[in-house]
Amino acid sequence: MKYSESFVPTLRSTPAEAEIISHQLLLRAGFIRKSAAGIYTYLPLGQRVLKKIQDIIRDEMDKAGGQELLLPIIQPAELWLETGRWHVYGEEMFRLKDRHNRDFCLGPTHEEIITDLVRGEVNSYRQLPLLLYQIQNKYRDEKRPRFGLMRGREFIMKDLYSFDKDEEGLEISYRKMYNAYINIFSRCGLKFRPVEADSGAIGGNVSHEFMVLAENGEAQIVYCTECDYAANIEIAPCKPDVKEKTEPKFMEKVHTPGAKTIDEVADFLKITPQDCIKTLFYQADDQVIAVLIRGDRNINEVKVQKIHPCYNLQLASEEVVRGITGCNPGYVGPVGELNIPIYADLEVQYLTNVVCGANQEEYHYVNVNPERDFKVKGYFDLRSIEPGEPCPKCGEKLELARGIEVGQVFKLGTKYSQALNAKYLDEKGQERLMVMGCYGIGVTRTMAACVEQNYDENGIIWPKAIAPYHVVIIPISAKDPEHMRIAEEIYQKLISAGIEAFLDDRNERPGVKFKDADLIGFPVRLTIGNKSVTEGLVEFKLRTEKEASDVALNEVVEKVIEYLNS
Ligand code: ATP
Ligand code: MG
Repeated sequence: MKYSESFVPTLRSTPAEAEIISHQLLLRAGFIRKSAAGIYTYLPLGQRVLKKIQDIIRDEMDKAGGQELLLPIIQPAELWLETGRWHVYGEEMFRLKDRHNRDFCLGPTHEEIITDLVRGEVNSYRQLPLLLYQIQNKYRDEKRPRFGLMRGREFIMKDLYSFDKDEEGLEISYRKMYNAYINIFSRCGLKFRPVEADSGAIGGNVSHEFMVLAENGEAQIVYCTECDYAANIEIAPCKPDVKEKTEPKFMEKVHTPGAKTIDEVADFLKITPQDCIKTLFYQADDQVIAVLIRGDRNINEVKVQKIHPCYNLQLASEEVVRGITGCNPGYVGPVGELNIPIYADLEVQYLTNVVCGANQEEYHYVNVNPERDFKVKGYFDLRSIEPGEPCPKCGEKLELARGIEVGQVFKLGTKYSQALNAKYLDEKGQERLMVMGCYGIGVTRTMAACVEQNYDENGIIWPKAIAPYHVVIIPISAKDPEHMRIAEEIYQKLISAGIEAFLDDRNERPGVKFKDADLIGFPVRLTIGNKSVTEGLVEFKLRTEKEASDVALNEVVEKVIEYLNS
């Protein structure tokens, strides 16, 4: 490709709406443009990177026994009603009606449609296992689309679904996919980690997420400094800090004006947050629940949702809290008649003589004792693990990191085959449910994650395997016929050798061309100048290196090939 003929609209300055580096650089370097919140056009350079990621994915999926198909984006409501997910998906689902007023959605995922397909076509154990996948747009009306391609409302996903005879079969399919994912993300040049994960709304019980380690990641993971344990903090199990009970004292109400947060209360009463109970009210669909936790801990909403299943869990509004307690959320507590379900973290039961809100403006209780002074529905692990806590596997120290979830694999079991009645006849002629798994990769998110890990102050540094072009050729002066002749010659030679070359033939100052080359992030830069004319030397520079070197004209192609294969 020649720059003069290309469509690479780069920007000189960073668009104000772009908060994170991948969003900024993909916009500036001319890879994407926004058309609406969370909806993007992939420009030619962006599309080339996406295709390369997809090619790697296809290669690994096919090697693992996958077969590619293409399912419809528009899906009928009936199937989603059959599994009950028409309602579960809530506002995240893009819904539409046809001219006959029939309900449809734009597929946020494809378990329903593929299980419907397979139940209709497969009826014997001889046809199993099956690994079917597609690479396609997904539609999710995310509450907060943000960070460019990271959290879009239209995005590209690879999704594979496995159908097996039994659990052993699923185990094999799951391993195949897990290993294929390791290959895919390694080949994309990413630093990543598989972690144990929550299976969320998709269902099933065993799941791993593939996390690209990056400061801007939305997910938090813990990993062991000694063994291979790593998990999303959403599911990492916490051991309670067991405290010896002391003699219970007489409970009293005390005036605590202005002390609404745990820290303010602790300061005011000259105690530590560990001596307080934090009470939070949640709206769980149309019910309100209270969750209690030790003052210095954080509630883990995914764990709360596990013990109190609901579609939507969010902190209750101040108005709702006032309606129940008659006071500001800063003064609420479990003592007295709340008439809502109260759940407590495991550690709460070990507390004695602690402080909690009194459900009265500007008052707290002191010397509160669980069970004596309030009752709960149960004690559960409801908190988020913290760095420094012991690893659940080996007991050594855990550390915290941030990650971008680029892929997730799930063992679904029979959740969907049961709901949709997907059965086959086994060797003995007996009807059995198919055992399923599903495996997703965010293709567009992977591109963004790659930029988050590979950039410097000048722009993107694409890993070789997914760079839009391998080499950029820069003639110092487009007006100098000799510079241009040599540049053209190298360009043609590279193309003949199967190398993806980009010739910057614009009549621009060299500084401008170098800036754009760095911004776009071509792995190799070749500069043609007077030295090329007089001494037959080309300047060879890698995007990852500061220093350049001179290479003889007739060795350039070889040198590039050598680097790309290294
Ligand atoms: P998240 O927790 O980030 O919302 P998810 O767990 O809902 O993601 P999955 O259903 O597991 O997502 O989808 C498979 C993959 O698709 C994810 O691992 C992620 O890489 C990608 N993905 C999911 N949602 C989005 C989105 N809104 N924008 C871009 N990629 C996404
Ligand atoms: Mg996921």
